[in-house]
Amino acid sequence: MQAKKPEHAPQTQFASLDNCLLVGGIPLTRLVHRAGGTPLYVYDKTLLTARMQLLKSLVPVDLRINYSLKANPMPALVGHMAAQVDGFDVASSAEMQTALATVIQPEYISFSGPGKSDAELLQAIAAGVMVHVESLNELRRLDRIAGEHGYPTEVMLRINPDFDLKSSGLRMAGGPKQFGIDVEQIPRILEELDGMYVECVGFHFYTGSQNLNAKAINDMFTKTCELAISLANLPIGSKRQWVRRINLGGGFGIPYFPGDVALDINVVAAHLQDAVVRLKTVIPDVVVEIELGRYLVGEAGIYVTKVIDKKISRGQTFLVTDGGMNHHLAASGNLGQVIRKNYPVLVGNKINKDADQLATVVGPLCSPLDLLADNMFLAHAEVGDLIVVFQSGAYGASASPMNFLSRSPVAEVLI
Ligand SMILES: *Cc1c(COP(=O)(O)O)cnc(C)c1O
Repeated sequence: MQAKKPEHAPQTQFASLDNCLLVGGIPLTRLVHRAGGTPLYVYDKTLLTARMQLLKSLVPVDLRINYSLKANPMPALVGHMAAQVDGFDVASSAEMQTALATVIQPEYISFSGPGKSDAELLQAIAAGVMVHVESLNELRRLDRIAGEHGYPTEVMLRINPDFDLKSSGLRMAGGPKQFGIDVEQIPRILEELDGMYVECVGFHFYTGSQNLNAKAINDMFTKTCELAISLANLPIGSKRQWVRRINLGGGFGIPYFPGDVALDINVVAAHLQDAVVRLKTVIPDVVVEIELGRYLVGEAGIYVTKVIDKKISRGQTFLVTDGGMNHHLAASGNLGQVIRKNYPVLVGNKINKDADQLATVVGPLCSPLDLLADNMFLAHAEVGDLIVVFQSGAYGASASPMNFLSRSPVAEVLI
């Protein structure tokens, strides 16, 4: 009989030994012992480094690649990334502190996001972190605070363009948005900046996330570059050619679900070569940045739970695990998303066994939404076996309702 493979084969960036998944060269069963048990997230340094090396080998050498801590703020992982990337993007005071504790210089830590408090703005200014200003009111608050304390302050304006990133999982620009300043308001804002204490040095764009379509990303970069060039032509008072930094955003996605095809990074990187040349021709010496989260870390992480009960209910096999949606909201289906799809899942200590058992993997919560795999063909699993959810390095632990049902938080290991 031919070996049955899982219908939704996970990414194969992880090796295996005998029947056990290897993470960072260590068998998963041993790693679980080392970590003090399940449930846990494991992030593989070798894979994190390999992803950045690949990306760096393809994009222009003078394009700066920033990592968005929102995707995974684990301090050890952020420390590892600090040696790989050119900068960080943070979205809270705590993320800012994590970033400031690394070797990245404060001016290459950018602080984005709506709803920054006065206290957070003061922290950023005092640290010399680059604030991406999201509204006119935020700009005025920032200017007042900077002036009061006499801290030299450079800022970038986040633009809400009149286009978005097509075919994105999440759209973050175009139309009315809480993110960025509408592009049509920029001339008036630059007039106001003329009399301000803070100095504006450039623009930030971020129009969407989780995009697997290289053509859509390239179109977005083309439009963003042209918009940046036209905005850079506007003066601030009598000052011309004041733009020194442009952040073009990102939105690179990773494949999660059956049918998803990985982003063709070669096509995007080739286009970025042209985009950076064009920008630097028109705006000499401009620093060009992109910022990525899940693309850099998502595929380097797994979530591991242990089967603590197995039951058959009216013919359907249930594997009940010691962790679920409380640790991995996204894999469970984000609180009942309209069409739930399975993340790639395997039995981590039976990796090469036939996937010939149709099973539903549920977590320990008293909610039908606590689901890690819905009717998937998996290797025959028993109590004590390890269930692995792949593509879990981003938007896992920190993006899950850890307190739900007052259960314990999840451990995280960087290996
Ligand atoms: C969320 C976010 C990112 C990272 O998104 P990914 O999909 O993880 O790459 C980058 N920049 C900004 C402004 C964001 O809000």
